[in-house]
Amino acid sequence: MNPSFSLCVYCGSRPGLDPKHLALASTVGQWIGRHGGQLVYGGGKAGLMGEVARSTLGAGGRVIGVIPAALVEKEWANHDCSELHIVSTMHDRKRMMAERADAFLALPGGIGTFEELFEVWTWRQLGYHDKPVGILNTSGYYDGLLTFLRTAVSEQLMSEWQMELIQTGSEPIALLQSLVQAAGLTTTPRLEEI
Ligand code: AMP
Repeated sequence: MNPSFSLCVYCGSRPGLDPKHLALASTVGQWIGRHGGQLVYGGGKAGLMGEVARSTLGAGGRVIGVIPAALVEKEWANHDCSELHIVSTMHDRKRMMAERADAFLALPGGIGTFEELFEVWTWRQLGYHDKPVGILNTSGYYDGLLTFLRTAVSEQLMSEWQMELIQTGSEPIALLQSLVQAAGLTTTPRLEEI
């Protein structure tokens, strides 16, 4: 059966200090799997990335992993993926991830996550795509970033409409539903969820 939506998740290749980050990654993966979705991600087994993928697969979802050849060992390429694409460059990875997704969501992560989030956000404001982009700000992980972005708006170095291109929320399920809806798609909950 075709997935009812395809969500690209950007998140840390490390687990982070606090187990709450792993728990959040697991919640997101389980939700994707239980709602007939497909995860698109960086294709590694490490950190939060690995946890989202494991949880999606464990809940019956599809997973597309896209990893540059140079990172196959470093990020422990995940051969359990429904599709694992080993590509030549980071640019190839990010292009394929963007093409295969209906929406994008950033979970807690580091510079790789930030770079991917900002790239897909700038692509949106340039009109390269019109897919929803979200930041999951559970436990206030992104409070500092969001405060800084509001400073950029008040200093008139960013526009309010650019801020409005991003959906933010602290509640994983509400934000996931909102992104799928904004992409014009619906979820197909498995029977036990209805
Ligand atoms: P991080 O959030 O730093 O743990 O990285 C999360 C993911 O982002 C990893 O799979 C990185 O390979 C990936 N990533 C994407 N673009 C970049 C980049 N320009 N520099 C570093 N990592 C990147």
